[in-house]
Amino acid sequence: MATPTRSLQFNREQGTLKLGPLRYILLRPETLSEIQKGIEDRLGSKAAEYLYAAGASWSVGALRRLKSALPDDPDELVKALCLHATELGWGKLELTTLNIEEKKLAVRLTGSPFSAAYGQSDNPVCHIIAGAIGGLAEALFKMPTACTEEMCMAQNNPSCLFVAIGHDVAGKDAWAW
Ligand SMILES: [Zn+2]
Repeated sequence: MATPTRSLQFNREQGTLKLGPLRYILLRPETLSEIQKGIEDRLGSKAAEYLYAAGASWSVGALRRLKSALPDDPDELVKALCLHATELGWGKLELTTLNIEEKKLAVRLTGSPFSAAYGQSDNPVCHIIAGAIGGLAEALFKMPTACTEEMCMAQNNPSCLFVAIGHDVAGKDAWAW
């Protein structure tokens, strides 16, 4: 698979870390988890929506950058994005299902740093990844797509599973603008 693999460039003097032209920072997952729990304290279940939106925004940008270097093949694009996230240290992401006709995308994540830092929970906690998969699916299916984390390591499952389903709200008889 032709995947653009670049190494991180650390400039000690300037305190910058770059992957290609893009700047990154090293942040402990525990710090993100603290932020997440703080938002949850304030907003309850609504907090997940903000984290989901941040993940979706990340994947839409990452997909746009990957698209310029890869053939326009949905399977290859999903695998490339999964590998990219894995290389960023987000755990091991693997494509399990991609059905363009049925508008369904499923991705398994093993070793999520988000759930590891969060600790045990009754509900899934990897909302950023759910958003990333949802945003990716929405771009591929070209329709509103919701992604649900069907199981999470924070719930004592061996891995996290994200399932995105496209909803053709307009239907086939929709107006064409
Ligand atoms: Zn999870």
